[in-house]
Amino acid sequence: MNAPVSDEETLRRALLRAERRIEQLERKVATIDKMQAANDTVNVNLYRELQVARERLVELDRQKSQFFANISHELRTPLTLSVGPLELLLQRPDLPPDVASTVRRVLDNKRRLLKQINELLDLASLDAGMAKVTFRLEDVGALVRVWAATARTALDSRRIGLEVALPDAPAMVWLDRARFETIFMNLLSNAYKFTPDGGRIGVAVELAGDEARVRVSDTGIGIAPEHQARIFERFTQVDGSDTRARPGTGIGLALVRELTQLHGGRVAVESAPGRGSTFTLTLRLGFAHLNPAFVVREAAPPPDAVASPDRWLEPAAAAEEPPVGDGPSVLVVEDNAEMRAFLRQVLRPHFRVRSAADGLAGLEAARREAPDVIVSDVQMPRMSGFELLRAVRADAGPLRATPLVLLTSQAESRYKLEGLNEGADDYVVKPFQPDELVCRIRNLAKLRRQERALAATVAELQARRRELDLDLAQARAFQRATLPALPDVPGLRFGALYAPAEAVGGDLYDLRARGGRVRVFLADAIGHGIQASLRTMVVRTLYERHRDEAADPAALLARLNEDVVRSYGRLEVRLAACCFDVTPDGVAYANAGLPPLLVFRAGASVDEVYEAGAFVGMVPGVAFPLRRIALGAGDRVVAFTDGLAEQWNRAGDRLAEATLRALLGAPGPVDAVLAAALARLEAWRDGRAQADDITAVGVEAEP
Ligand code: ADP
Repeated sequence: MNAPVSDEETLRRALLRAERRIEQLERKVATIDKMQAANDTVNVNLYRELQVARERLVELDRQKSQFFANISHELRTPLTLSVGPLELLLQRPDLPPDVASTVRRVLDNKRRLLKQINELLDLASLDAGMAKVTFRLEDVGALVRVWAATARTALDSRRIGLEVALPDAPAMVWLDRARFETIFMNLLSNAYKFTPDGGRIGVAVELAGDEARVRVSDTGIGIAPEHQARIFERFTQVDGSDTRARPGTGIGLALVRELTQLHGGRVAVESAPGRGSTFTLTLRLGFAHLNPAFVVREAAPPPDAVASPDRWLEPAAAAEEPPVGDGPSVLVVEDNAEMRAFLRQVLRPHFRVRSAADGLAGLEAARREAPDVIVSDVQMPRMSGFELLRAVRADAGPLRATPLVLLTSQAESRYKLEGLNEGADDYVVKPFQPDELVCRIRNLAKLRRQERALAATVAELQARRRELDLDLAQARAFQRATLPALPDVPGLRFGALYAPAEAVGGDLYDLRARGGRVRVFLADAIGHGIQASLRTMVVRTLYERHRDEAADPAALLARLNEDVVRSYGRLEVRLAACCFDVTPDGVAYANAGLPPLLVFRAGASVDEVYEAGAFVGMVPGVAFPLRRIALGAGDRVVAFTDGLAEQWNRAGDRLAEATLRALLGAPGPVDAVLAAALARLEAWRDGRAQADDITAVGVEAEP
């Protein structure tokens, strides 16, 4: 046990402990201080760097915004300066209607451009914190009622219903009126743009507690949940494809959000695809939340209508007037109503113009109306210009050859090669020179018309050709039917060949049996084909006149010559011919210009009998020599027209005379020998056209 300690001692010990504790603490504090000091240096440095970086960023951002503001301003000034004079011009009563409509169109587009530039400028000045704002106490319901009413014309043109629901009491909110107009009109124009014809738009204002709400709702295409957050970002569009249905820049909603925030309010969307969208603006009452420097406590002027509402809501295009005249027809395919109307205006004085609002409608119109030329935009809803081009080129009918001109903006000029590759006939970049476009279309239309005329002629010729072929087939059958049958005479065997070079021939043969003797006649009228075949008919008639009366072949040729010269000399009916009478014992033969009669002796030798008289039909009074040739058993004679010898093959070689003779002298029945010779000749020609009519008659004394 310890001895009891005095109070003094207890106190002393406690003091000692306390001192030690203080020392410990002091050491700790010193350490902490040291660390703190080191840390501070680091922090201060970091802080400085951050400060510098931030200043640089702010400066850069300011420069960017300034630059943006500058160029927008540079664009805005000339635009504004040209809008004024145009407005004045429009007020002149003596303006011809077509000029007025052009001026109105220019003005509308300038205003639309101005609106877009103003929005860009506004965004830039908001970014730069340079936006000049004036808040006045306004009746939101009254403003909305007046502004919604300005949209009536456009809404009616597309049969879109408008419901406006306002509170009973005025909804007084501190607003910058111009900014609020931008907010409201952006929401209204989106509702208009994304709602189909015949839909409904609702505008409502309501008061709830210390807030006022403005709602713009529509029964349009709606926005998928995954896109709803993004649409308030700058330059965002849900559909950015080639087949985008609605134009736009993706700035509107970004501006709406930032301007709403400028008012200390917020904007939200509720939407279901296919059913519609509702945008709600929530604004606070009073001005405690606003920068007092911008609040102006004086009465706001009464609400005024939105100036030129067309720049927000483009009315539907007027119905198309039917084309007149008989100039070339042009189909314009363009989704932008304004552009479509402009193209129609440019082209109408020169062409019969039809138009369609997208590729699909264009394709249907093209199928229905077979235009001479199609002019098509590239970016269109439902079916792009490229898809249209492909569909046209894939058409099975005449549509596939329709010239197509692609019309695109400068920014899309990368499509040029692609378009031409796909078979576009021309490519015009917007903005284009109207005269140039007209010229290009006119050239294509001219080509197209020539092409069509040519195609029509070709079709007609083909039809005529088919008729002619039919005619020729009939003529050929007729000519074949006039060839005589081979006679049946004891002791003699006959064979004959008749192969015209064309459908009908200018050759002729005849065999006539009379009292044990057969008179053979072979003729080759000059030329071949139809005209030669007609000459042949004449010769046959004249020949038949003398066939049975003439005493011998020479006398017959002489009489024939007289007749032909007398009756047809002036028509240049001329022919080579030969005639012979044959019995089992011998031949009496006369020749007027045909190749020699070949006589094959039963042994192997060949005699040529060639008494070449003059041609028949050249001069009157000619006598033809008569030759008599004795025949023994097995001897054969062959008479033929020169077509048989005139056989070239593809290499340009002529069939050797020796070969021909070997063919005609081959053993076997004479008709089979002739048929075999013809087949061999055909093989020899090897696909080359037959040069002349081939006719041959062979007679054999039976062995
Ligand atoms: P834009 O100029 O392209 O219309 P916005 O910023 O106004 O740009 O809109 C951005 C996108 O939000 C639009 O491209 C569209 O896809 C979608 N959007 C806006 N409003 C509507 C609406 N009322 N219905 C359907 N989609 C809408």
